[in-house]
Amino acid sequence: MFRKITSLSCGRCHGLFALRYDELKGAAAMECAACAEYFAGLVVDGSALTLEASVLASAPFMTFAEARARERERELQFMAGDICGSGWTKRPGHTMCALHTSPVPVEALVEYWEGLPEEHSSTLFRLREEDFVAELDAHLKYQLRICRDCRGNVFREWRALRPRPGGAAEEGGAALDVCEGHRLTVVDGLVCLEGSGSAAFFERAEEVEDCKGADGEGSEGVRHADTPELAREALVDCAALIYKGQVEVAFREQTAGHNALLLFVHLALGMMEERLRNAFSDLRARQAEAELLELVESEAKKAGRKKDKKKSRRSDGRALPEAPRQARMQAPM
Ligand SMILES: [Zn+2]
Ligand SMILES: [Zn+2]
Ligand SMILES: [Zn+2]
Repeated sequence: MFRKITSLSCGRCHGLFALRYDELKGAAAMECAACAEYFAGLVVDGSALTLEASVLASAPFMTFAEARARERERELQFMAGDICGSGWTKRPGHTMCALHTSPVPVEALVEYWEGLPEEHSSTLFRLREEDFVAELDAHLKYQLRICRDCRGNVFREWRALRPRPGGAAEEGGAALDVCEGHRLTVVDGLVCLEGSGSAAFFERAEEVEDCKGADGEGSEGVRHADTPELAREALVDCAALIYKGQVEVAFREQTAGHNALLLFVHLALGMMEERLRNAFSDLRARQAEAELLELVESEAKKAGRKKDKKKSRRSDGRALPEAPRQARMQAPM
């Protein structure tokens, strides 16, 4: 069972599934409502996976049918292929399925974002300073392809955002407008994107992505940010990419985790259903066998009685004495 799911899943998906399986093993309530629903009455009993007694007693085949319906939905959703359970295959140098790499449409991100509980979404718009700086550096180099000298300009603008330690009271840092209703601030060592995470924000980030793809042609793809305005713009662009990326990763992990979970539940329930059906047909087969045996026996008895009657009729003429005749009648009993 587990070997099968391991062979079907890319490393990332398998890790995401393992996290969820740990949740099932633990007594703690499952955090995600969808995960809890997908697990559909499964429980871990010691080292065995089984169905809750109440499900087994009431309607196990309904649970199986529901899981099959979900599997059909899953297949339809991921028809595009190269996804765990839908076309992805293990091969050297191919460690991740498309769920972790393919672009996520803005509409899907917005929908996901709006469904997130506040405490979760706020953590996605917050990064530790050192993490933000590392991301900023990587984005300037590899995404916006800003030249080395100009990257220094961008970092100067970044430092201007940070609160300056000024004697007793820390001077509050500045804020940088990222787009409509969204500002970048640094508070207590955390770099935050303040704002609701509206469609406008995700669209702004997508524009940056489209731009960097479009003007990579001239001057070997290297860009400059040689004025403070351009440097600030590059910083804003990076921030948009970084925070959109955070949401994108969370979205992908959830999608992939659910896909892996559905796949597992489908396999597990399919196996249980087969066993249960086999057990039922075994039972039916044994019942049928017993009935057949009974039938054969009763036929044999009837045949025996007829034979006896014939014999007794034949022997009637000879007028056998009473006693032995009775004894003969009882013999087949
Ligand atoms: Zn979930
Ligand atoms: Zn995968
Ligand atoms: Zn430059």
